[in-house]
Amino acid sequence: MVGGEKVELSERQEKIIQIVKENGPITGEKIAARLHLTRATLRPDLAILTMAGFLDARPRVGYFYTGKTGSELLTEKIKKFTIKDYHSIPVVIQENASVYDAISTMFLEDVGTLFVVDENSCLTGVLSRKDLLRASIGNQDLNAIPVHIIMTRMPNITVCQTDDLLIDAARKLIDKQIDGLPVVQETNYGLEVIGRITKTTITRVFVELVTNDDI
Ligand code: ADP
Repeated sequence: MVGGEKVELSERQEKIIQIVKENGPITGEKIAARLHLTRATLRPDLAILTMAGFLDARPRVGYFYTGKTGSELLTEKIKKFTIKDYHSIPVVIQENASVYDAISTMFLEDVGTLFVVDENSCLTGVLSRKDLLRASIGNQDLNAIPVHIIMTRMPNITVCQTDDLLIDAARKLIDKQIDGLPVVQETNYGLEVIGRITKTTITRVFVELVTNDDI
């Protein structure tokens, strides 16, 4: 696993890196001979080190050391994460739904942000917890207020798309000081809401980086 400066490699993998650092480019056969092991025994270690980016392999030349540190490799990895692999299901509500409906939906679906859509499932607004609190203060009949009156509306909504980088979505959350982004796709009718990225998404990825066994 690549984790910051500290990379947990086996003793044998460390030795392989050292050999390649000093002698690369060097063939798998030669690395195996130096360690008094067979090429077959070494194959999984070489595969791990190559996949993790410590070593590069060139056909008929051999292995060489890429010179990248654990944190450089981690950064490279994070910069490849895209929205499509991490977004969750959006919770949407129709424009004519009442503030009361929106509050119920937020509790039932256990989310902090609702996306407001028109009849084509296209984005028209966003409702946060505070939007609903604000609308509730001093108002007796929450059933009588439709959400489109209080929502943050298009075109002032920050969105992302499936091929965007997760790190860019995280930056948008920070820069705009918001809890979530709708994942949208362009249609003839507008921006269809197909997912959501929230601070929880980013927190989960952060934890997975440390606990996942894959490199
Ligand atoms: P909270 O209101 O619970 O602090 P947010 O920080 O997400 O939640 O919302 C702050 C304000 O920003 C709210 O008025 C909300 O409607 C708006 N908002 C939330 N998400 C977005 C978004 N993706 N684009 C534009 N505005 C948003």
